[in-house]
This record gives sequence, C-alpha cells and structure tokens, in this order.
Amino acid sequence: MSITRKLSAKKQRALEILIRLKRLYPEAPCTLNYETPVQLLVATILSAQCTDERVNQVTPELFRRFPDAAALAAADPLDLETLVRSTGFYRNKAKNIRAACYLIQTEFNGQVPKLMEDLLKLPGVARKTANVVLAHAYGIHAGVTVDTHVKRLTQRLGLTKHTDPIHIERDLIKLLPQPDWENWSIRIIYHGRAVCNARNPACDRCLLADLCPSADPNKVDIAALQPPLLTAPQI
Ligand code: SF4
Repeated sequence: MSITRKLSAKKQRALEILIRLKRLYPEAPCTLNYETPVQLLVATILSAQCTDERVNQVTPELFRRFPDAAALAAADPLDLETLVRSTGFYRNKAKNIRAACYLIQTEFNGQVPKLMEDLLKLPGVARKTANVVLAHAYGIHAGVTVDTHVKRLTQRLGLTKHTDPIHIERDLIKLLPQPDWENWSIRIIYHGRAVCNARNPACDRCLLADLCPSADPNKVDIAALQPPLLTAPQI
C-alpha cells in the first residue's frame, strides 16, 4: 500500500474513533476551575503529576489571595509554596508560577500570550500546558495535548509508532480535524480511565475494539470484528 493510501486509511480509522468517542463522551469540558486565562495557566501548571480534583481544592484560596498575574508575581514565595503544597512538587511549581507571572506582567502586559512560541517562553510551560491554555482560554487549537493516557491509547490504537510526545502530537495533527485536537485528548483520557487502563484494558467492553489493532484476542473475538464497521466519515 502506498504511503498516501496508508495515511488515508489511518485517517479514516482515526475519524471513526473520534466519532465514537464523541458518542461515548458527549461532553468534553476542561475539568480545572478558573475564571481567567492566568488562572487557567496556573491551574494547568499545578495539574502536572496531580489530579484536577486536587488542583480544584487548592485554587479557590490561591486565587482569592492572588487573583491575577501581578499578585502572583509579587506573592511571598513561602506563602505560595504553602498554598500549593498538596499538589506535589510544590517548590518548583510555586517558583514557576511566580516567574511565569512576572514575565506575563513585564513582557505581555499582564495577559497570557496567545502565541505558542510566546507561551513556551514562560517558566513551567511546555507544549502540553500551552495547548490546554490556548484551547480553553482562547479557543485556539494550536496542537494536541499528549499526556500519559493520550500516549498509551494513541499507541494501542495504532495511530502512532512514536514514544515521545512531540512526534505523537505531530502524527495526531495529521490525522484529526483541527477543531477536535483538544477534545480528542479529553475524550481519550476519559476512555483511558474508564476502559483502556494501563495494566488491564477492558477490551471485552471496549466500543473501539473493532478499530483497535491491540484488542486482546483473549477478551474479544477478533475474527468476528473484522473488517472495521466504519460509520459516516463526516464528523
Ligand atoms: S480494544 Fe482494548 S487496547 Fe484497544 S482501545 Fe479498547 S481497551 Fe484499549
């Protein structure tokens, strides 16, 4: 099969997976609580190696005392560390939040920048954080957020052979419609938690099994699933 035809078949499969994920998980909101882009940026920095639920427990008091970039940049380091302590890696996170907010104040007029290249200049901000902030704060779909769930499922679903987030993101960008880049990640994370967990994927009750090259033959009748039952190509 030519490279173009291979990509086209993979793209069709990715679109079908997307359609089914939308049916399975109709709502795909950002689960972090925030009122402004700065607060979303801070909450996203805090969510590294931490659950969104835990971050949402910490941010009400944090944002009550330090509601914007100016206040966060000027915050006492020890105060900030104490407030974010329960999210883990708190010294580093507090340091990055202060430094990022200082840069937002001094370089970007107190506003979270809308360009990926500018966001990546902020301490503690990598592409994953930048993608979340751009999509949810500004409706700008600049890339696909790749975390451990997205990485695991994208590999299992045969949509990438890569292991590093940058290359996985590049593969997904080629396969998915741009407006769905961010909601893909949210829905894949839902599916990873609900069905395709790391240690024991529940292929026997997975509605993507006929589209998944990693479906476990001990759990599903692979032969009965072939060929994939593709529905409408439109999203
Ligand atoms: S079929 Fe199994 S491996 Fe594939 S996505 Fe579903 S649960 Fe994961």
